[in-house]
Parts: sequence; C-alpha cells; structure tokens
Amino acid sequence: MANYEGPLPRPDKDSEPYWEGTRRHELLLQQCSACRRFRFYPRSLCPFCFSDGFDWRAATGRGSVYSFTVVHRAPSPAFRDKVPYVLALIELEEGVRMMSNVVDCDPARVRIGMPVVVVFDAVTDEITLPKFKPAPGTPP
Ligand SMILES: [Zn+2]
Repeated sequence: MANYEGPLPRPDKDSEPYWEGTRRHELLLQQCSACRRFRFYPRSLCPFCFSDGFDWRAATGRGSVYSFTVVHRAPSPAFRDKVPYVLALIELEEGVRMMSNVVDCDPARVRIGMPVVVVFDAVTDEITLPKFKPAPGTPP
C-alpha cells in the first residue's frame, strides 16, 4: 500500500464525501432532490435540472461493463507491473457510468454487458479506489 505510485484523485469539497464513503467500503452517489436522478462524478449542481439540492445515497455496487479496453502497454512506469489490465466504463444499476478497472478476472474473459460488483482497493491510507469484479455466478 505504501508503495502505490499510480495517479491519485485529489478529493475536493464536492467529492470528499464520496472518498470518505469508499474508505468505509460504501459507494456513494449524489441523488438530485428535485429530479431524483443520480449523477457521477460528484458536483454541486445537477447536470439535468441544475438544482443544487441533493442527498448522498449508497449505490448497490452492482452494474455491468458498458465498454472496456485491455491495456497492454503501460502508460507510465507506475503501471509497468500491472499490464495487462482492464480499463472499463461501468454502468451502475442507478444509471450512472464510471471509469474503473475490472479485476479478479482474466482480461480475455471480459465482455460488454458482463455483470460486475464493486470491490474496494485501499491503495493508500487516504484513498480507496472502487474497482469491479465479475458478479458471482458469471459464467467463466
Ligand atoms: Zn436534477
């Protein structure tokens, strides 16, 4: 954990509750108080109706692979020992999409539409990254 060299998010006033959530192994999403839609990434105004009212809600952590690529050439030395890895756009049940990794899975098995569940990777004391693994019962 202390040797993590990858890029790290810098929590700000909008995203700090999200990163506190991942540290507790909770995936929190903002839900607009006016139109009730979920949004990601965290921000102060709803991108659909511009309301500034929202609540933090715990996502189910279930979703599916919307799109993905398998990275074979490390984009920086920090990723040298991680290739090949799966960079994926995950669509959560709540309707939002987030960029993440599919882990605990042979990259050759990943498919668009594959059901996934969130897992939490504490890469530093401050930052826990949400990643996704195949949902239980997914055929190999
Ligand atoms: Zn709204």
